[in-house]
Amino acid sequence: MKSHLPLFIKKNQILAIGVLFFAFTSISCSVAETFNNTDPTVVPKGLGEVIEWRMTKDPSPERVAIELSDEWRNLDAKSTHYAVWIGHATYLINNGDITILSDPIFSERASPVGWAGPERLIPPAIELEQLPTIDAVVISHNHYDHLDKKTIRNLNKINPDIIYLVPMKLKKWFQRLGIKNVYEFNWWEEKKIRNTTFTFVPVQHWSRRGLFDRNKTLWGGWWMENDNIKLVHLGDTGYTKDFIEINKKLGSPDLAFIPIGAYAPRWIMKESHMNPEEALKAAFDLNSKKSIAMHWGTFILTTEPTEEPKQILENLIIENGLKEDFFKTVLPGDIYLFDFLSDEIKE
Ligand SMILES: [Zn+2]
Repeated sequence: MKSHLPLFIKKNQILAIGVLFFAFTSISCSVAETFNNTDPTVVPKGLGEVIEWRMTKDPSPERVAIELSDEWRNLDAKSTHYAVWIGHATYLINNGDITILSDPIFSERASPVGWAGPERLIPPAIELEQLPTIDAVVISHNHYDHLDKKTIRNLNKINPDIIYLVPMKLKKWFQRLGIKNVYEFNWWEEKKIRNTTFTFVPVQHWSRRGLFDRNKTLWGGWWMENDNIKLVHLGDTGYTKDFIEINKKLGSPDLAFIPIGAYAPRWIMKESHMNPEEALKAAFDLNSKKSIAMHWGTFILTTEPTEEPKQILENLIIENGLKEDFFKTVLPGDIYLFDFLSDEIKE
C-alpha cells in the first residue's frame, strides 16, 4: 500500500498539471481567436441568461403560417434584376450580373438535429431543386437558422461550381463538406465575382454552433455592388452604429435587406436582433433608397407574435409619412423587381 501511494499522488499531479495546461492553452486560444463587435462593450446574452429566460416560461407564440405567393413561377432563365424572399434570411437575388443566394436554409428545422429545434412555419417559397442556377452564396454567420448543413450539401450536389463567401474562420466548415470554392472574409474585405464586388461589412451579433465555439467565427452583412446597383444584406444584427459606418465607407445602397423579427423579450434579444423601430432606423442610417424585410414569419425563435414585426413596420411607415415602398415586407415567393432602376439599365 505504502509503495503505491506516491505513484497515486504522482498520477494525480500529472493529471492536474495536464488539466491546468489544457485549460490555460484553451483559454489563451479562445482569447486569441474570438471576435468582438465593433463596440466591444456590447456583448449579446450568454447561455446562462438564455436558460434563465427559458425558466421564466414566457409563452411561445401561436404557430401561424403567413401567406405564400407563387409569383416566382413567372421567372425564367432570362429574368434579371429581382429578389425573391424564400423565407427567414434566405433571398434569391439577381443583380443583372449574377444570381446570389443569401443564408440558405431549406430544411424543416433550424437545428443541429432533425428531431428537435425550431420547426418551419412555412415551407421555403421555392424548393432547392427549383432554383435558377446560383453563382454565389453569401453567409452572414454560423447560427443554425443562417447556415444549414443539409442545404449546403444539397446546393453543392446540384451545382459544385457555386462560389461561397463566408465570414472569417468558417472556411474549414465548408471544406469539410468537400466544397472547394470558398472564400473567407474579415470586415471590409472584398472580392469581385464577374462584375459584382462583394464586401463583408460589420454588424452587431455573435456566433456559435457548439458548446465551446462562441464567437470563434466572425459575423457580418454583405454589400454587393456593380455599376448599376448597390445592395446590402444585413444578415442578423442588433441596432448599431455600424450602419452609419457602412454608409460612410460604401455609400447609400439602392436596396437593403433588413431583419425585422426575433426581438422579444428585449432584455435578452436587444443586443443581437432589431425590432421594427430599430430596423427602420437602420434604413435611415444606411440611407438606403428602398428596403425589404426578412428574418420573420419563418421560424419561432422568440416570443413576439409571428405577424407582429410586419404589422408594426407597416404602422411605422404610415406614422412617419413614408412611402409604402420605402421599407416593405414582401410575401415569400413574390417577385420584387428592381424597377426603381432606370429602364436602360434593366434591359
Ligand atoms: Zn444569429
